[in-house]
Amino acid sequence: MQDQDPLVYLNGEMTPLSEAKIPVLDRGFIFGDGVYEVIPMYARRLFRPRQHMARLFRSLNAVGIHNPHSADEWMSLIERVSSALASDDQLIYMQVTRGVAKRAHAFPQGVTPTVFIMTNPFTPPAAELCENGIACVSLEDKRWLRCDIKSISLLGNVLAAQYAVEHGAMESIQFRDGFLTEGSSSNVWVVKDGKLMGPPKDSLILEGIRYGLIEELCRSGNMPFEARRMTREEVLAADEVLISSASRELLPVVQIDDKRIGNGEPGPVFRKLYAAYQDAKRA
Ligand code: PMP
Repeated sequence: MQDQDPLVYLNGEMTPLSEAKIPVLDRGFIFGDGVYEVIPMYARRLFRPRQHMARLFRSLNAVGIHNPHSADEWMSLIERVSSALASDDQLIYMQVTRGVAKRAHAFPQGVTPTVFIMTNPFTPPAAELCENGIACVSLEDKRWLRCDIKSISLLGNVLAAQYAVEHGAMESIQFRDGFLTEGSSSNVWVVKDGKLMGPPKDSLILEGIRYGLIEELCRSGNMPFEARRMTREEVLAADEVLISSASRELLPVVQIDDKRIGNGEPGPVFRKLYAAYQDAKRA
């Protein structure tokens, strides 16, 4: 029950995180050849596990990595890892790489995928961030064109996140050819005249598990929703901008670069959706 050095799952074994080792020829290390998933757990219950599992399976399928486990097996592995941690709220991280093989780009034959699951105590974002909002910076999206795959090759996202840090911002909001895509590790939402809008679910963004949830919350809250391409000008002229992710839940963006968004305070659509999100996660 040591949260400092939690037990993790690696290829069939539970070991302390500090002792978990993989061979240097693992293709995750050599090529970033793998996929991952992050599932929040609240009060010892996974939040939207079916959707996260489906996305993991889609990612594996998209990159041609054999899925080593059934959904039930995955669930019991997650249970093993999460039950070893004292915290009731956790963020569970799962990663599958193509496995260990002599270094050559094309798929090796007959290799066993590497499976790694770890978890960390999860503290949702501080109330202050929800009350005051966050500042973001805008950035040209220079990532590859299959952002719909939850790939561990995250260099583009890493550089975008670092850009935000270096500019004193909480997240970078990316635009490709002048159109909104997403944050370095979040989806981005725009509110205009009471309507919530998100970029289309295409290969230029990762469809967050919160994407589907937010669509559901809009439907049940009688809030208009539209998925469409949005220009940088539209985003900057929005009444509200929000970001969402498993770890950041839902946060209001009150500034992008030097531009204040709306009146510079979290707006009514954020507050309504945030309350609905909090209800959903405890339901
Ligand atoms: N886009 C990117 C690039 C991300 O890394 C994340 C976080 N996983 C998201 C969107 C949001 O996805 P989710 O709601 O599943 O956390």
